[in-house]
Amino acid sequence: MKSKARLLVAAWIFLLLPTLPAYSNQDFCNTFELCRENFQTAASKWTGAGTRAKIQTLEIPSRLPRGPLPVELLEIPATAKPRNLVFIISGVHGAEAFAGSTLQTLFLDVLLPGIDRSHTTFVVVHIVNPYGAVTGRRVTEGNVDLNRNFSTGPGLYKNKNSGYAAISDLLNPAGPARNSLLDVLRFYSGAAIELIRTPLNVLRSATLEGQYESTKGIYFGGLAPEPIVARLVPNIIRVIRNTDYERMLVIDLHTGYGAKGFMHVMPNPLAGSPLVLDRTRLVMKDTLGGYRLEDVAADPNFYQSTGDLSSFIAAKGMAIGMPSVPLLLEFGTMDSQTILGSLRSLYCVTQENRLHWYGADSLASKNAIQRDFREMFLPTDPEWQQLVTLQFKENLPGFIERFQKADH
Ligand SMILES: [Zn+2]
Repeated sequence: MKSKARLLVAAWIFLLLPTLPAYSNQDFCNTFELCRENFQTAASKWTGAGTRAKIQTLEIPSRLPRGPLPVELLEIPATAKPRNLVFIISGVHGAEAFAGSTLQTLFLDVLLPGIDRSHTTFVVVHIVNPYGAVTGRRVTEGNVDLNRNFSTGPGLYKNKNSGYAAISDLLNPAGPARNSLLDVLRFYSGAAIELIRTPLNVLRSATLEGQYESTKGIYFGGLAPEPIVARLVPNIIRVIRNTDYERMLVIDLHTGYGAKGFMHVMPNPLAGSPLVLDRTRLVMKDTLGGYRLEDVAADPNFYQSTGDLSSFIAAKGMAIGMPSVPLLLEFGTMDSQTILGSLRSLYCVTQENRLHWYGADSLASKNAIQRDFREMFLPTDPEWQQLVTLQFKENLPGFIERFQKADH
């Protein structure tokens, strides 16, 4: 983030802090069960008698002892003629589900009652990757990064990422994971050598863009649609085609990437005919109302992933001529926009993956690796949680309000 922009945001947050409601640490759910319970309680206020809202549970097969895992879709129809469709999605990455679910519950409890619902249908998809939320992993039971798995075309799973293959040994070391200084030094020195050979943006693309060959590797996009994709897609298409909506906004909640404590709005790739693309860009511009996008829109170095859910949903809307804006809200945790933060994040992800496949050399290593990984996606720092809540609360109603008026 540019320093001037960072200063302005910091000043803005500082000025708003005293007006914060008491969203303290414990308000962030920290287990799948608690998140689901909170979400269901919040949803039940909308699905009561006399309402047309409904909640649907999709069962995802799992080899975990507890059996199939639930994903909920809450649909709150417009109260008058529907024109706008808004998706709010959490937990595509399991370890990020806690913040995402907390914000969805906040949305239902605190924000939605103050938002005009007359011409807007809201669909809240709760924890798309429940296996990841239950186990604390970012990926699915098949080691798949779900945001690399939603296929808009037949070629996705055949993608070759040659940059990834070149550094696969650094990213996916074999043998038990260790929490030792020697291991840290080995990783950082390996990364430093790569950085001398290759610029950071190329390395970032090689890793974060996703890969479709190494089934045990990090950022694996799968070889076929994941079970949740097969179950979710028909329901999403049903919702989109249910009514002649005029425009769609897809908000996908994530944590991990970017400056710690900041809400980064990242428009995802768009695919559609030139006419609908132009109209979508206008709707997006109006919706964001000048919100800072310097991390993505103005950064030619930013990576572009393939197979993400919000782009997939938007593409379905655009295919029927509807302007459809896919947005990722990413709440930064480790300053991964910097070289050091980026390497720290990457190390954390490689360690967790190694632990999953090869175990650890000791219980202490296992605990430390899991703690660091969890902290990367749900920082326990109360200030972080407060900043996340505040920025979501301060910005989301404005996005929705402007989107509702974006008549293009
Ligand atoms: Zn994520």
